[in-house]
Amino acid sequence: MITRFAPSPTGPLHLGHAFSALTAFERARAAGGTFLLRIEDIDQSRARPQWEAQIYEDLHWLGLDWPLPVLRQSERQPIYDAALDRLWDMGLIYPCTCNRRDIEAAASAPQEGGAPLTGPDGIVYPGTCRHKPRPALRPRDMALRLDMRAAATQPVSYVETGVDAGPRTTSAATLVQAVGDVVLARRDMGVAYHLAVVVDDAEQQITEVTRGLDLAEATPIHVLLQQLLTLPVPQYHHHRLIRDETGKRLAKRDDARAIARYRDDGASPQDIRRRVGL
Ligand code: GLU
Repeated sequence: MITRFAPSPTGPLHLGHAFSALTAFERARAAGGTFLLRIEDIDQSRARPQWEAQIYEDLHWLGLDWPLPVLRQSERQPIYDAALDRLWDMGLIYPCTCNRRDIEAAASAPQEGGAPLTGPDGIVYPGTCRHKPRPALRPRDMALRLDMRAAATQPVSYVETGVDAGPRTTSAATLVQAVGDVVLARRDMGVAYHLAVVVDDAEQQITEVTRGLDLAEATPIHVLLQQLLTLPVPQYHHHRLIRDETGKRLAKRDDARAIARYRDDGASPQDIRRRVGL
């Protein structure tokens, strides 16, 4: 059993991250397996070395350790390019020049009063660029989207081991209608979350992905990409989310609940565990 914690170094780790990392670490320990760390720093406009250093410090303070070297996404663009080339050669991805405003306008235009359909990445892409002629070579400086109609021809299935454990299946029709043509490479980044996470979970031979329930919606996309790229499909352990005193889910940058802040205020790792219900 191999699982992982995959934070983005774009701010301090908070209680939600602590819960996620501790959950993964303890599941690995209970199974006699391995806990791996991955730094998801593809967005170099937001990633900072200081936050990466803080991740190591916070996790060590919580009592976690992991085998080295740590996988860092910013060092892996050639591997992502190979996966994108493969999808391009299969005719499954296309360049997209739409910005957010174009998408909002196109998505709401044909509907009478109804709000545009939203999926895991926000508004389901209305398909504006899907039918434009594709260049012979895959562009490196444009956003690339998955042509979901072409890609999703079968249902996708995986096993959930977290909240409401059991088998999960998503039909091809749901992927087409409710998920749509997701971005696999962002314009200035060369790759996007869905593709990087799938390629890296395979590279790290992850057998169980541990992460928050907020990412469960994205999992059928990941399983589809695993199938298209003939990668193994791991199990998924989506865990409950940590909320603040008012019941609101902790935001990505909820600095008030930063682990470092608790530590500076004299809290112990035990206090953190209690605070997240462990
Ligand atoms: N890097 C993502 C985050 O910090 C997590 C990705 C994942 O666990 O699949 O939210």
